[in-house]
Amino acid sequence: MEPRDIPEDLTEILISEEQIRTRLAELSRRIEADYAGKDLLLVGVLKGAVMVMADLARELHHPITMDWMAVSSYGSGTESSGVVRILKDLDTDLSGRNVLIVEDIIDSGLTLSWLLANLNTRGPASVEICALLRKPEAARVDIDVKYVGFEIPNKFVVGYGLDYAEKYRNLKSVGILAPHVYTPVAA
Ligand code: 5GP
Repeated sequence: MEPRDIPEDLTEILISEEQIRTRLAELSRRIEADYAGKDLLLVGVLKGAVMVMADLARELHHPITMDWMAVSSYGSGTESSGVVRILKDLDTDLSGRNVLIVEDIIDSGLTLSWLLANLNTRGPASVEICALLRKPEAARVDIDVKYVGFEIPNKFVVGYGLDYAEKYRNLKSVGILAPHVYTPVAA
């Protein structure tokens, strides 16, 4: 089945393409106001944040630079442990820079909490977070997220950059993955 063949693989569309566009425009106006007259480096976290980074960056009427990091979080099964390994580091020196981390989703918050601490050791002028989605019920650490797109229920979602087994990233909306997709069917 092709990833575009929805809605069979989704139980519901949680956030539409239109809602994402409207919300990113609202967040962009706030970011422009907050960083008026200041430099701004967007740091995208691969791979999930690719879509939100691309759309946010184009919506911003503000001079920016972009860089990317890839991290992997060690955990058992679907649980994040907070022990993180850098797979791809930034190319940019952060000293004196205003950094805005761009994330797809905050679940337990453990990965981001580690990333925040890591980037803060590099001498930036500031580090803030912009996340498209946050699951408040799943939070295991308290992180100050300045820009949040949508708070969502504690369900596994895909689309708009978010994957299941590397699929569904190219869906234009965010939806809840149907259990039959990840539950093996008995023979
Ligand atoms: P945390 O450390 O906050 O628990 O984990 C965050 C990472 O877990 C996200 O960047 C994302 O890669 C993955 N993740 C958490 N919840 C979901 C979800 O509902 N769907 C998908 N596709 N990935 C998720």
